[in-house]
This record gives sequence, C-alpha cells and structure tokens, in this order.
Amino acid sequence: MSLEAFLSRRVVTPHGIEAAAVLVEDGRILDVVPQHQLPAQISVKDFGEAAILPGLVDSHVHINEPGRTEWEGFRTATRAAAAGGYTLLVDMPLNCLPATTTVAALEAKRNAASGQCHVDWMAWGGVVSGNQEHIEGLAAAGVPGFKCFLIHPGIDGFTMVNERELRAALPHVARTGLPLLVHAELPGPVDTATGRLAAADWSKYATYLQSRPDEAELAAIQLMISLCREYHFRLHVVHLATSQALDMLRAAKSEGVPVSVETCPHYLHFSSDKIPDGQTLFKCAPPIRSRENHEKLWQGLQGGVIDLVATDHSPCPPEMKRSSEGNFRTAWGGISSLSLALPVLWTEASGRGFSLADIARWMAEGPARLAGCATRKGRIAKDFDADFVVFEPEAEFIATEQHLLYRHRVSPYLGEKLRGAVKATYLRGNCAFADGKFPGKPGGRELRW
Ligand SMILES: [Zn+2]
Repeated sequence: MSLEAFLSRRVVTPHGIEAAAVLVEDGRILDVVPQHQLPAQISVKDFGEAAILPGLVDSHVHINEPGRTEWEGFRTATRAAAAGGYTLLVDMPLNCLPATTTVAALEAKRNAASGQCHVDWMAWGGVVSGNQEHIEGLAAAGVPGFKCFLIHPGIDGFTMVNERELRAALPHVARTGLPLLVHAELPGPVDTATGRLAAADWSKYATYLQSRPDEAELAAIQLMISLCREYHFRLHVVHLATSQALDMLRAAKSEGVPVSVETCPHYLHFSSDKIPDGQTLFKCAPPIRSRENHEKLWQGLQGGVIDLVATDHSPCPPEMKRSSEGNFRTAWGGISSLSLALPVLWTEASGRGFSLADIARWMAEGPARLAGCATRKGRIAKDFDADFVVFEPEAEFIATEQHLLYRHRVSPYLGEKLRGAVKATYLRGNCAFADGKFPGKPGGRELRW
C-alpha cells in the first residue's frame, strides 16, 4: 500500500485533540504531522470536522463461536463491531462450545474465525474448575490473559471456581504474568437473597435487583484483592456494577496492588428507576443499580479508579429473553451493545463535560493495555496500527434495529436518543465500514500475545 494521509480538524492523539494529518503506510501509522507539513503528491482522505479517534478496543465480548453460532458468531459480531467503531475484539472463553479452557479449544476457535472477521480479534483463555494444568499452555499458545467466574455463569460448558480452586490456579496464572479477569460476585449473598425472594413477583425489576445485592460484588472483590496480595498476579475486575466497591479499589491501587477495573455502557447509561417491570432486555449480571450508584460510577471513571469501559456484549436468541413472560428469574442475562457503545458513552460523557480524549482513553487505550497490545493498538501515534474511527460528535439519532447489525436485533437501547455517529472505521488503513456498508473482504486477523 502506498503512502496516504487521513486529515481532520479533530484528531484524537495521546497529546490531545488537534488539527492534524495522520500519515499511513502499509497499514501502520508513519507519523502524525500538522496539516501544513503534508508531503506533496500524497493521496488524502479529508474528514473535515469529523473527529478521528483510535479504533476502539473491546476487551469483553461474547462471540459464541464455535458451538453457539446461532447466538452470534465471528461474522456478525465483527460486523457490528466495525459499525460501532471497534477494530479489535477480545473474546470471552465462555458461551462458545468448547469453552476456551484448553489449547485444543483455542485452535477450534481459530479455525472457526478464519476468513470471517471484519475487525481484529484475540481470545481470553478460561480458568475453570480443574484446568490449572492448561493455563500455562494457553499462555504459550497466545492468549493475552484469563477469565474466571466466582459464581455460576448461568450457562453450561464453563464452571465457576471457588477459593480452593482459585488457589490451585493462581500460581500458574502468576507465572504467565498475564491478567486474570474476574466476574466478581460471590454465590453466598446471592443465594441468601434469592432464597428470601422465593415467593416474590419476578416480573418486577426490583425483585431481580434485590436478588443480586451489592454485598455479592463487595465480598468477591475483597477476596480477590487479598488473593492478589498473596499470589502477585494481575487482577482485573470485569463489569463493576456497584459503586460501593470504589473506595476499596482506590485503596488497593494506591497500596500498589496490581488491580484494574472496567465497567460497561449499560451501567453508565441506565439506572434501575428507569427500568419498566417485565422488561427483561435490561437483565444482566451484576444488575443495573440505582441512579445514585450510576452517578458514582461516573465519578469512579473521572477519578481513574475505573480504568476502562468494555461492552460485555452478550447476545442470545431473542426467545431466551422471554419477553412475552417478562420473568426476570428465567430470562437470559446479557446486553448487546457493540454497534452502539460509542454513541451511548459519548451521549453520557459529553453531557458531563468529558472530551473525546477521555473516550479514547476508556475505550481504546485502556482495553488495549489490558489485552497486552498497548504498543500496537489503542492510540493514534507513530508505529501503531492505522486503526481509526471517524466520528461525528454532534450528530444525533434515535437507535433503531437498523443500527444494531449483530445477529439478533434486540436491545434495551432501541428508542434511545443518542449523540454522535460513526461515519467510518478503518482497520490497518483499509476501510472496514463506511456509511452503512462493509466494503471489501473481511480483513480482520487474530492478534496473538
Ligand atoms: Zn461477560
């Protein structure tokens, strides 16, 4: 590929937001220069007032292939991702079959992904009951880290780990130097609360919320921080939903415990007081909590206790949401948002005075660091992959099914008025999405750590 330039009045780089030209050669960023320093006779793409951000990185996606491709799949997930401004997805090791808990399962995933992906991808390995002998093998085979559940994950094929099983796994995790991502809820508080709610009305969101109390998250995070001190592994708390954990996490960080934290667009956009009874599209675990909690999560992002925002895109066939029954006990828990996460975050962030540089930090640089590819993905800077999202921050739209683009077009975001539109997405210099279309062959590749 020859040298070309991407121009905008608003290029979001680690130094701020500036009018600049990004010079691209062979899929890499050669340099970022002021527009008047453009070399002569160079091919130019001028995006004018539209901003150019680094391609987003989503470190928490359930692609579900192989094995549950009827739920999602590499082709549909990466298509929705490209339309949402993402250029790298990191797949969770569960909901696919086999779960990614052995090297053989990782190889099956690689075969399934081949030739289908519109954006780049990586795969987390799983830490489950009894697979500690596979952990270092998975690391050698190229996973960027591991995921485990401290509570039943709500699906067969992936087992939770208790403290004893964690203690068997953690020396292996620590030896790899890779992060362990933890679904941090303990079963005790959830079982106790749910037992008390046996006769409650499960069409009410309040019942579901009471069944997964803050204490379940708090106790799990406390346990993981103490194990982190003992075993010296890198801890990452996925989808933090309770703001009550922020003080504990801030203290652990300032003490030097290697812990990072993510939250999700749905916790930053919705709050429990707005969720109608019977609307199981809003079910996820941990649950969406109060308005006050939601505002405190934003303060957690502002203060840097929360490092990044990932989608936890977790689709299922629509019938599993049991919308006609409206029963929060039996409905599948999971919210899909790959194609809308950027406008959702920008709607909330811009209203609170944050800038596109904050968005780039939370949705590109932070997740890239977690996935071990922060020297190549997540920034517009020399020698990085030429991954860009062209974004119109002032555009407004109402979310409809045509914006979703993943396999099953159900979402609690339908009807929401959102700010900011993805105009185009470039993967290593090539257009992966523009104006509703996906030109060319799927050009996504696996990145191996
Ligand atoms: Zn998840």
